[in-house]
Amino acid sequence: MPAHQPLPTTTTIENLLDLDSLLSAEDRDLRTMVRGFGEQRLRPQIAEWFEAGQVPVRELAAEIGKLGLLGMHLQGYGCSGSTATAYGLVCQELEAVDSGLRSLVSVQGSLAMFAIHRWGSEEQRTRWLPGMAAGELIGCFGLTEPDFGSNPGGMCTTARRDGSDWILNGSKMWITNASVADVAIIWARSKEGVLGFAVPTSTPGFHATEMTRKLSLRASVTSEIHLDDVRVPEDARLPEAQGLKAPLSCLSEARFGIVFGAVGAARDCLQTTLDYVGTRAVFDRPLAGYQLTQAKIADMAVELGKAQLLALHLGRLKDEGRIRPEQVSVGKLNNVREAIKIARQCRTLLGANGITLEYPVLRHANNLESVLTYEGTSEVHQLVIGEALTGVGAFR
Ligand code: FAD
Repeated sequence: MPAHQPLPTTTTIENLLDLDSLLSAEDRDLRTMVRGFGEQRLRPQIAEWFEAGQVPVRELAAEIGKLGLLGMHLQGYGCSGSTATAYGLVCQELEAVDSGLRSLVSVQGSLAMFAIHRWGSEEQRTRWLPGMAAGELIGCFGLTEPDFGSNPGGMCTTARRDGSDWILNGSKMWITNASVADVAIIWARSKEGVLGFAVPTSTPGFHATEMTRKLSLRASVTSEIHLDDVRVPEDARLPEAQGLKAPLSCLSEARFGIVFGAVGAARDCLQTTLDYVGTRAVFDRPLAGYQLTQAKIADMAVELGKAQLLALHLGRLKDEGRIRPEQVSVGKLNNVREAIKIARQCRTLLGANGITLEYPVLRHANNLESVLTYEGTSEVHQLVIGEALTGVGAFR
């Protein structure tokens, strides 16, 4: 074999640090199953969905529901009751295909279903959760408003009592799946403080319209919600939710999934790039054989391994019931920040091919711009960690 031909190697970006040895056989089997679903069902169509800015949410939710992945970390009501680590690994495999597909599962399970499971009544849990777990009912989570994203405490949406009913008024923006949802978890300000409501989207006065012209997360539905005198009965109010800590607890759940998910997107970029540099010849020999290439590959593999270790560590803390919000912030801040760096670096190695939908890297990089922003921007997570370490809040 000529010296410049790559030698066969059994080292992969996945076994470089032997991190699979930290997983149970059950977790590895689940991962294999979801990876297979992702490669066979999702990957062949993802570029088309992304390009069209359209994704068959209902169809996919029903299929993913059948696999038992929606709200899988919740107990009862048709949910699988899995470990947090197993849920994280599922997020990782879905995001290896596209962050928009992982978003579907995160919003359904960690935001909408978790809100009902944790803060709802028994009647609400029975009414909504089995259908949502099966993917027959779609949920969304309306917290962000046009003028209040990082600071949801400033929300203007109001909930006013009228006899035994509540009247909701206001607007929500950037709400994943709102225009295809059956139930919207709406957070609103009232005399009693911030309250949450499970609002059937068929309620008169509830309007959701899809937001278009996105350059990121195009394989995900994002909508605006307008609430015009939406009347709901008292039993639509999540009885245990009082104050901002309720929506923030849901965000913490979704952030946890992102800690794992971002590693999936980065892994897919790096794997694509490894395959590419092995066959692409520049200046008469494979791109893989240049030191500059190898420095990039090595640095990315190191960051990927560290991100995976961090995700698994946080998974264990969550499974032991002792994870703290600032720890989730460490994971979300680091793993998304490193994933987007990896995606962009991979793009350089693919040259012009890297800017097309033939390869996933720029699609991942663009998606990760949204992932960097939602569920707390990087700056918000820096402020969470900074406050935890110094004892001084610096949000305002
Ligand atoms: P802003 O809050 O206006 O922030 C702008 C900049 O200011 C950021 O860089 C931010 O880090 C920085 N900043 C803010 N505060 C400070 C500070 N104190 N110090 C220094 N810098 C600061 N929301 C939902 O409720 N439900 C959803 O389903 C949902 N899905 C989404 C899907 C997509 C594709 C996107 C893009 C967003 C989604 N969001 C959703 C909204 C998302 O959570 C918000 O965009 C996010 O919280 C940031 O808010 P913002 O966009 O208003 O930015």
